[in-house]
Amino acid sequence: ETWEDSNLDPRLIANCRKTGYRKPRPIQAALIPHILNGDNVIGVTETGSGKTASFVLPILNQILAMGKDRIDEERCKLRPFAIIVAPVRELAKQIYHHFTKMAVGTGIAITLSYGEINKGQSIMKMSEGCHVLVGTAGRLMDFVIKATIGLKNLKFFVIDEADRMLQDARGRLDSDHLMAIVQDSNFPRATERQTLLFSATFDKEVEGIATKVMGDPNGRGL
Ligand code: AMP
Repeated sequence: ETWEDSNLDPRLIANCRKTGYRKPRPIQAALIPHILNGDNVIGVTETGSGKTASFVLPILNQILAMGKDRIDEERCKLRPFAIIVAPVRELAKQIYHHFTKMAVGTGIAITLSYGEINKGQSIMKMSEGCHVLVGTAGRLMDFVIKATIGLKNLKFFVIDEADRMLQDARGRLDSDHLMAIVQDSNFPRATERQTLLFSATFDKEVEGIATKVMGDPNGRGL
């Protein structure tokens, strides 16, 4: 299996090679076609498998497919095409760096926000370009319920390391924040967006989150 078999935009393939990704990892070969096809996905996998690129690449590909004019027009409007929720800031940062590396030369702007980054500063950064927004659950919930960001473009909702959202971090329960996001009246319904959920473990509790965020359980397991 080569990158050319993946049907990804040549710019993304070039960025993979530049990063030293000589060929797709098995999880990437398995998931990229499903994500490009518009399927919801539940990826049960450990960190280290290459799961991040398995959602970063097809999301960037679908944004690129909208065309340069649309990308340029939407750059500074704070209406992201994709939102990625991570349980902790370290993971959010890693995801942000993956997106940034893979988006080189594409004109797609990525922003990162979490509780420890000053909110005003975050909003300023987003106003300079925000096609993809990566952050932690609490901060993203704040942006959604206060309508700091627009949701009419939102096509991709990614929840990474969902099992860690169930852990009570500093007295907050991130799964409650997730629910507040998907239940916001402006948030696109499950059928109008693509939802991708990743988790190292899959038990009843994670299944509960998956069912709630995906609505109808039409996700494909892995
Ligand atoms: P992840 O599971 O997403 O945290 O990725 C684990 C590590 O694998 C990261 O350091 C990635 O940069 C690296 N990686 C991801 N995809 C590939 C690939 N196709 N070839 C080589 N390394 C990769």
